[in-house]
Amino acid sequence: MAILKTKGIIIAENFVNDYDKMLVMLTPNLGKISCSAKGARKTKSPLLAATQFLCFGEYILYKNPTNDVYSINSCDIIEVFYNIRIDLEKLEKVSEVTKIIQKVTTENEDNYKILQLYLNTLYVISEKDKNMDLVISTFKMRLLAILGLAPNIIECVECGKKEELNFFSFKNNGFKCSDCSKQDKGGMNILEVTKNAIQYSICSNPKKLYSFEIPLEAIKEFKIVADLYFKLKLES
Ligand SMILES: [Zn+2]
Repeated sequence: MAILKTKGIIIAENFVNDYDKMLVMLTPNLGKISCSAKGARKTKSPLLAATQFLCFGEYILYKNPTNDVYSINSCDIIEVFYNIRIDLEKLEKVSEVTKIIQKVTTENEDNYKILQLYLNTLYVISEKDKNMDLVISTFKMRLLAILGLAPNIIECVECGKKEELNFFSFKNNGFKCSDCSKQDKGGMNILEVTKNAIQYSICSNPKKLYSFEIPLEAIKEFKIVADLYFKLKLES
């Protein structure tokens, strides 16, 4: 059996047998993996906390060479996101985010950027009192960018002009200037501040992704753009 050490976060837990669990863990280098945790539901198990939903830690795993299933030997816990577990609204939002993360990840791929985005998002939801629509919209746009599906946000998708980009075209995947937008029925007018928020959510330093605020009116526009564009790119 091969022994390996990896950071990881539990993104799903299922009960099996009387005391065991099957887990789904997101790791930076192994991708999304399935792990069994024998006896993890016994009250005195050292794995009790380490195998709960959202536990992030450094895990020691065994890999069974015959069936490629990992089993958890031990874990140094780094973070358990306690504030999320005790707040129903936060937990609902995190479940929504986690469902998306589950969908876009697979085994054996480099998931570093997605894991970093997921952890940043959990941290913001757990520790900060930010508008939840702003957080989820930012998350969606950034995830699309990581997956190589970002819209064109630098210039008008039709004429290349860099000024007066006050229209988001779903039909043509990006911003349009006021002249070119006149003929476009597949998009919406947006405020300057909404345009800036979309650009920032795609281009900013990952560590500062959530360190911006915009007015409520702009959050509403940002949410419409993010939800619709996300649906078009990932759910159709
Ligand atoms: Zn144009």
